[in-house]
Amino acid sequence: MRRLLIVPCGEIGAGLPGRLAGALPRLLPFEVTVGEALAVPAGAYHPRRRQYLASELLVELRRQAGGRPEPLLAVTDVDIFAPGLSFVFGLADRRAAAAVISLARLRPEFYGGKPDPALGEKRALKEAVHEAGHLLGLPHCQAPGCIMRFSSTVAETDAKGPGFCSACHRRVFP
Ligand SMILES: [Zn+2]
Ligand SMILES: [Zn+2]
Repeated sequence: MRRLLIVPCGEIGAGLPGRLAGALPRLLPFEVTVGEALAVPAGAYHPRRRQYLASELLVELRRQAGGRPEPLLAVTDVDIFAPGLSFVFGLADRRAAAAVISLARLRPEFYGGKPDPALGEKRALKEAVHEAGHLLGLPHCQAPGCIMRFSSTVAETDAKGPGFCSACHRRVFP
C-alpha cells in the first residue's frame, strides 16, 4: 500500500484534513495520514496578484516537510495560481512527490452564494482525488464524469467524479 501524507497548510483546522484522510482510501490505493500543519510559505506569495504561485508553494512545503518520505498533499485556503492561468484548484508535481489543493474557490460564498460547507467539502474531496491521481502518474482524461478531467470552474468540478472512469481505474488499481 502506498502512503500519502495530508498536510494542512495555514489556518484551516484539522477537521477537513481528517475527513479527507478518512474518505480517500476508499477511492485510492493509499494509506492516508494527516501530518502537522505547516505555515503558508510567504515566499510563494505574489502581491500584485494577491495569490500564491502553486509550484513554489509545493517546493517550499516539500522542504518544510523535511524528512517525511511519503508523497504529500497540502490542503490550504489561500488562492493559488499557475503561469498562464488566473487560478487553479490544485496542482501536483510528481517528481517532487507533492500536490496541493486550495479551498478558496471551492466554497459557494466565493461566488456570492450561501455558505454550504458540505458542498465545499465534496468539491475538496474531488480535487484531492484528482491531484492524488496525478501523483500516481495519471494524465488528464476526457471521459465524461471521470475525476481526472481538468476543471476550471466549480460547475466542472460538480459534474465529475469523485470516481475514475474504467480506463483510469485500471491504471490506479492494476
Ligand atoms: Zn489535473
Ligand atoms: Zn478517466
